[in-house]
Amino acid sequence: MRQIIIGNWKMNGSPALVDEMARAIYACAASLPCDLVLCPPATLIAPLAQALPGIAIGGQDCHEREAGAHTGDIAAGMLRAAGASHVILGHSERRADHGESDAMVRAKIGAARAAGLTPIVCVGEDEAARRAGDAEAVVIRQLTASLPEDFAANGLGMVAYEPIWAIGSGRIPSATEIAAMHGAIRAALRARFGEAGAAIAILYGGSVKPGNAAAVLALPEVGGALVGGASLVPADFLAIAGAATAEALGRTAVAG
Ligand code: PEP
Repeated sequence: MRQIIIGNWKMNGSPALVDEMARAIYACAASLPCDLVLCPPATLIAPLAQALPGIAIGGQDCHEREAGAHTGDIAAGMLRAAGASHVILGHSERRADHGESDAMVRAKIGAARAAGLTPIVCVGEDEAARRAGDAEAVVIRQLTASLPEDFAANGLGMVAYEPIWAIGSGRIPSATEIAAMHGAIRAALRARFGEAGAAIAILYGGSVKPGNAAAVLALPEVGGALVGGASLVPADFLAIAGAATAEALGRTAVAG
């Protein structure tokens, strides 16, 4: 199974970046050792899907309901209709900016799955928890409360471990810390979902750059990377993708 490199454009991007990214990916997609998922703002999902047929596209959030009076929100089915196959859920910026709780994330996972989207579920500790030695307890608690019972049922959900203090900061945990956390997440997934839990991809996210990608992606139980800032620069994003290893453990296939 191939590693998965996901680009989270956050509230960035433009039609010009869609063109630039599509040209850069077209030039090398066939030779990349990994699968790609690009998660632009909702307005760029359709153009990106049209520009890059064969590359998976994702949303950055969805509402838990199918439709209704929820101004400014977007339903999972709308993302699907625009060309998305994936959706990031529970990103720490959503949890902080919009007060998203684990229960809300769990409900959104249900909505995403009902619409045929693969959820990419983010968990991660803040700096205080890491300093206090509570990182693992916080992450496993979030994971347990955010994932529904049927999360492993169709083999398409993913988990992204994203320490909040590493996002956009240029700082990342040590290799030992990343490996330990991914091992703890794997153990929790196995304990809850049995063999199906062994096949759920666990991605690392937080200041992944071309210079550190190979070291991160070589760690045990790292099934790929969720990349923020560096995913806005085609050469950097593709350098990270090029650092993927062909043989990492425990991940699910990317279905477009
Ligand atoms: C993210 O926000 O998902 C992320 C990983 O950001 P960055 O790579 O910029 O730290």
